[in-house]
Amino acid sequence: MRHAIMGGMPELSAASAQSARLTNWSLELIRIESLTPWYRRLVFADDGLAKRINLGPGGFLIFKLTDQQGRPVKRSYSLAAIRPGLAGERSEPASSELVIDACLHQPVGPGSTWAAAAQVGDQVLVEQPIYHWQAPAPGPSLLIADAAALGAAGSIAAALAGSSNQQPHWIGVDQRPDRASIIPALSQSGVIDWVDAISPEQLRAWTADWPAQGAYLWAAGSASLVKTVRQFCRQQPAWSRNNWFAQTYWV
Ligand SMILES: Cc1cc2nc3c(=O)[nH]c(=O)nc-3n(C[C@H](O)[C@H](O)[C@H](O)COP(=O)(O)OP(=O)(O)OC[C@H]3O[C@@H](n4cnc5c(N)ncnc54)[C@H](O)[C@@H]3O)c2cc1C
Repeated sequence: MRHAIMGGMPELSAASAQSARLTNWSLELIRIESLTPWYRRLVFADDGLAKRINLGPGGFLIFKLTDQQGRPVKRSYSLAAIRPGLAGERSEPASSELVIDACLHQPVGPGSTWAAAAQVGDQVLVEQPIYHWQAPAPGPSLLIADAAALGAAGSIAAALAGSSNQQPHWIGVDQRPDRASIIPALSQSGVIDWVDAISPEQLRAWTADWPAQGAYLWAAGSASLVKTVRQFCRQQPAWSRNNWFAQTYWV
């Protein structure tokens, strides 16, 4: 079933220009790459959005979708990349493109149903989230992401590699046998090791050589993954909140 995708003009939610947040920005889908049967890359024409709001590393947009009953729902998707527009997609190529990588999970929900059915030419309304990611001090870094968070991890890996000249170590958490086939499409920054699940013992091993200061762990994905990471990080006596960030993407 196709979900209704509404058109609309950019709209500001607040009267004050300083605190204004975009709540109805229309994005056009200009290209689709099916990386695996369960991982779909959707490329949108930027059409000025990146200039209007902060879409930095780990940034995401809130997509305004509908559920099977036609009720409005919102789902978050990360900017895996913002890249120069390619010619030939439209009569006027987009000056830049916004890339999201969607996990087509089972059981489905409105987000994954939308991402699976989306077609080139579709318009979708997005909302600006409140989000601030603070780049850490240069040092070794570990990024832990399940399939929902690989796009965000890619943008953070690129930022970390650019700012500290150190390639981050990625851990991809997924059990699907063809999980490695999405690697070529991900950021070239860092090395990805795949695991089926994470444990405190693995976290200890991955961070064993870290200096007391200046290392950074970023994790996002399922609630259980994030719970394991948070418990581990809070138990590290030498770490402060500047050393780690963990966000639940789905429950
Ligand atoms: C800040 C942020 C950024 C995000 N970025 C991305 C992104 O770039 N790409 C992406 O794919 N997702 C991303 N997510 C996660 C995405 O928003 C959720 O997976 C969302 O819940 C999917 O919505 P849905 O409507 O398909 O499923 P829901 O209606 O939320 O849930 C339906 C069922 O699917 C299950 N489910 C939900 N998500 C997953 C999953 N990922 N894997 C397995 N089962 C799942 C639920 O447990 C439930 O049983 C992000 C979430 C946040 C908070």
